[in-house]
Amino acid sequence: MDYSEVQSINLAKLLHEPGTQSANGVIRDRIEVGEEQFELENDATWSVTVTHTGNEFFLSGELHGTVRLECRRCLTPTPYAINAYFQHLLQYDPEVETLTLIQNAEDEDVYLFSDPNLDLSAFLAEAFVLELPYTVLCQEDCRGLCPVCGANRNETDCGHTEGQGLRNPFSALGKLLDEV
Ligand SMILES: [Zn+2]
Ligand SMILES: [Zn+2]
Repeated sequence: MDYSEVQSINLAKLLHEPGTQSANGVIRDRIEVGEEQFELENDATWSVTVTHTGNEFFLSGELHGTVRLECRRCLTPTPYAINAYFQHLLQYDPEVETLTLIQNAEDEDVYLFSDPNLDLSAFLAEAFVLELPYTVLCQEDCRGLCPVCGANRNETDCGHTEGQGLRNPFSALGKLLDEV
């Protein structure tokens, strides 16, 4: 399949008649979210379908990819799979200059758009961010960085013993039991 690298969908045909329009594409190297950039392990893919029902446009989409996040203990780039699904209501409004979020009479979020070539980057970035974990670990028992010399203790034994995190909490218990 040929993937477009443009993050948009052209709704020109849909504007004046009910129907459905789909688009898909890839995001290469990194996903930009505002000022922040997230490195991708491989190309992320997305697909979006917009259905025009008469009054509103119903957008549903998905985004799949693997991002590299820093391990919270040793800072090693760690792959994390993102599978995001999103849905939005849209309305065509030639008066708005940019994508504008409003609440309709039913208190639902509705995005007003005027450009029939609808830019999807904000929807994709939002869906991506919502799937990000607070933190990741490169491995369940990551030993982190040595607080003395900064060495990655998963890779080297630098010999420093200050790191309390290495101590097995059950070893003290074992000693107690021995003494009984
Ligand atoms: Zn780690
Ligand atoms: Zn060290």
